[in-house]
Amino acid sequence: MIIRSESDMITFGEQLAEDLTPPATIELIGDIGVGKTTLVKGLAKGLGITDDVTSPSFVISKTYRNAKNSILLTHFDFYRLSDPGIMQSELSESIEAPNTITIIEWGSTVKNVLPKNRIKITINYNDDNTRTIKVVK
Ligand code: ADP
Ligand code: MG
Repeated sequence: MIIRSESDMITFGEQLAEDLTPPATIELIGDIGVGKTTLVKGLAKGLGITDDVTSPSFVISKTYRNAKNSILLTHFDFYRLSDPGIMQSELSESIEAPNTITIIEWGSTVKNVLPKNRIKITINYNDDNTRTIKVVK
């Protein structure tokens, strides 16, 4: 699928929210600046989360709740961690938590705790600034 703009990416995230039943785990794969966090913004919007979603890279993870408090979204970004340490157990807890959607950027160092049934979303740059998205369930 081709994503032509930032707002297209938000819409993609919103539509993804409709297909998800928590608990669910999503791994986002793609280079810096390709739009992973932008996708999470759209996902949050689609889940009814009104908080502003920003990159969790300094704090590694951020959790958001929707208005009804019925769904949690936990967003991890392991980019800055060469060794995930204690954050790996936080990730495992989130993956196992009911009513929680866990979404991960830069998850290669925590591959061993990612569930086999996760959704993998790969985003690639194209020459014309559009992005190509591939979803593998
Ligand atoms: P990542 O989390 O992958 O590092 P971000 O989502 O933080 O990337 O940043 C993506 C940047 O690229 C944003 O500034 C966004 O406005 C811009 N952008 C431009 N075109 C697109 C597109 N087609 N899809 C997503 N983001 C885009
Ligand atoms: Mg990001």
